[in-house]
Amino acid sequence: MIELRTPAEIEAMRPAGRFVGSVLVAVKEATSVGTNLLELDEIAHKMIRDAGATSCYIDYHPSFGASPFGKVICTSINDAVLHGLPYDYAIQDGDIVSIDFAASVDGWVSDSAISYVVGNADPEDLRIIESTEKALEAGIAQAVSGNAIGDIAAAIGDVAASYGYGVNMDFGGHGVGREMHGDPHVPNDGRPGRGYRLREGLVIAIEPWFMRGTDEIFTDDDGWTLRSADGSRGAHTEHTVAITADGPVILTDRTGL
Ligand code: MG
Repeated sequence: MIELRTPAEIEAMRPAGRFVGSVLVAVKEATSVGTNLLELDEIAHKMIRDAGATSCYIDYHPSFGASPFGKVICTSINDAVLHGLPYDYAIQDGDIVSIDFAASVDGWVSDSAISYVVGNADPEDLRIIESTEKALEAGIAQAVSGNAIGDIAAAIGDVAASYGYGVNMDFGGHGVGREMHGDPHVPNDGRPGRGYRLREGLVIAIEPWFMRGTDEIFTDDDGWTLRSADGSRGAHTEHTVAITADGPVILTDRTGL
């Protein structure tokens, strides 16, 4: 079921968006060569406790997960592209780090993700991160009342194609509200004009993620982490966006945080 939010409800969703953005900023700032993924999870966990927020991940146990997630952030490194379960790993020079984070504040969820390279970057890694950021920007630009989900999807897919990357269609964006995952599904490729018609009050997570080689993934032995089938590296960028009378509003905007 697709739920629409009133302008007052969208205002009430802003603290969650700001909080999620602030955690991503803090986790990124705390990352350097040698940082352990478990330390990054602990930073986010402390911020959740201090803010009185609620993790969307720690008890998360969907049909595709082997067990409750047990951590509060996803840390996907290099060929891990989504749902990376934090483990005892010290980040190495040149790693691509993707952090995905969702939390609830005042009963409203926000969901956002960033990718960055630690230390000396391979230009090809910077390029794939840039492609997901450009795709997110292009998708958000289409998140206006009167457009269709397909307009967002096509804009994202066009950016992937312009960089020469394929698009995996197994996972994409989603409605966001009281729960982390709701309707509609927001695929990362599609045809303009197709699908659900966007309207004011719709709040969605838009989340392009691409891989440098294949568009196929497999699940790691940890039961959660999704890795590229060919070992190629990937990147993931996400914002929670409200469709309003004034256009798209990025609830998880990190500008100035
Ligand atoms: Mg997310």
